[in-house]
Amino acid sequence: MNAVELIERKRDRGRLKGEEIAWLIASYTDGMVTDYQMAAMAMAVFLNGLDDEELAAWTGAMLHSGAVLDFASVAAPKVDKHSTGGVGDKVSIPLAPMVAACGVAVPMMSGRGLGHTGGTLDKLESIPGFRTQLTPAEFRAQLAETGLVLAGQSEDLVPADRKLYALRDATGTVPSIPLISSSIMSKKLAEGLDALVLDVKFGSGAFMSTIEEARRLATTMVGIGTAYSVKTVALLTRMDTPLGREVGNANEIKESIDILQGGGPDDLVELTYALGAEMLVLADRAASPEDARGQLQEAVTSGRAFEVFQRVVEHQGGDVRYVQQPDLLPEAPSVHEIRAASAGYVTVCDARRIGISAMRLGAGRERKEDTIDPGVGLSLNAKPGDAVEQGTVLATLRYRHPARLEEALRAIDGAWVIGPAPPTPMPVVVERVD
Ligand code: URA
Repeated sequence: MNAVELIERKRDRGRLKGEEIAWLIASYTDGMVTDYQMAAMAMAVFLNGLDDEELAAWTGAMLHSGAVLDFASVAAPKVDKHSTGGVGDKVSIPLAPMVAACGVAVPMMSGRGLGHTGGTLDKLESIPGFRTQLTPAEFRAQLAETGLVLAGQSEDLVPADRKLYALRDATGTVPSIPLISSSIMSKKLAEGLDALVLDVKFGSGAFMSTIEEARRLATTMVGIGTAYSVKTVALLTRMDTPLGREVGNANEIKESIDILQGGGPDDLVELTYALGAEMLVLADRAASPEDARGQLQEAVTSGRAFEVFQRVVEHQGGDVRYVQQPDLLPEAPSVHEIRAASAGYVTVCDARRIGISAMRLGAGRERKEDTIDPGVGLSLNAKPGDAVEQGTVLATLRYRHPARLEEALRAIDGAWVIGPAPPTPMPVVVERVD
């Protein structure tokens, strides 16, 4: 086969056959197809798309570019959740132990933050000693013993995506629904799951800015999951405002522990239980979403979910005292308060500006190689619908370096809008795609 011929065909809106796609991805992984050829192909796909058959073949070729996990020795149904990323999105941290405490195995592979979005692995690493890179044997043993692993993706899964994602990042070809959906789904399918719940976000702080785009992405990913016999459901959820009240790393662990102990802010509780209910129903562990919610609630009130979390922290080398006494978690020494310029109701609390501000403080990465400061971040005191007086504290920024605070303040300018009337309350979960 010839890469140039395939590129030309896709450039001219032709179709690629399954075996041609398999050859292309395997040859790119091996280095026989060059980066510049694959960049041209990615642009041709970006412009002309892939039909359903091509997309299934592309995803399959990515999936089989490396190892595929097999947890057949773990008897419980294996279910994961994937979020397309947002600000203050720490849902995985309370959700996974809650679901595991209800008898579902959760081999959760998460990512790191990039740009204005946070990453579960970075948050977990604010617990001293916590290891997110496990060997396949450690991963399997822990899943069998505790029902839950919270780790990064192992190096041998989907190597084609590691190469292709970096290439797309450098060639303006990231925001393509077939390329995003095959990238995400190939990695999820490599986990050997029985079921998958997708949290597809839309709004200022999300990858997809409109619900229409989110719906198209969700429908495409659910179609891929179904084609590979993995029961897949997606929730379309709002990401105009950060989730919860904490944005950062260690402070997000504290907020996650609040949820595991029966507290936490309403939006975060709503989303955690909605995703958890989908996971339990797909795993056939609950007869209905209501039954599932009852089980999740019981896992929290009985303390079992928090016990699972502590066990996982211990297993992965973390110092469990930091989870039992969250005040020990790292906290930067200096604080700055942002205050309301006028009285009224908060109508906007912009996720993107707040996410960028957290990154400027050092809670996130602009580039992959940047290091994270777990103790910096923001606590939001006023979110949409809250009444404020002139001078009310809208947010507290925790910082280490004054120069970074200056940058964070520049980024957050205009994040809050205060109006004369409260906005119409909006649910976080807007739609379900199955
Ligand atoms: N996340 C992924 O894993 N891949 C993409 O292409 C986009 C977001």
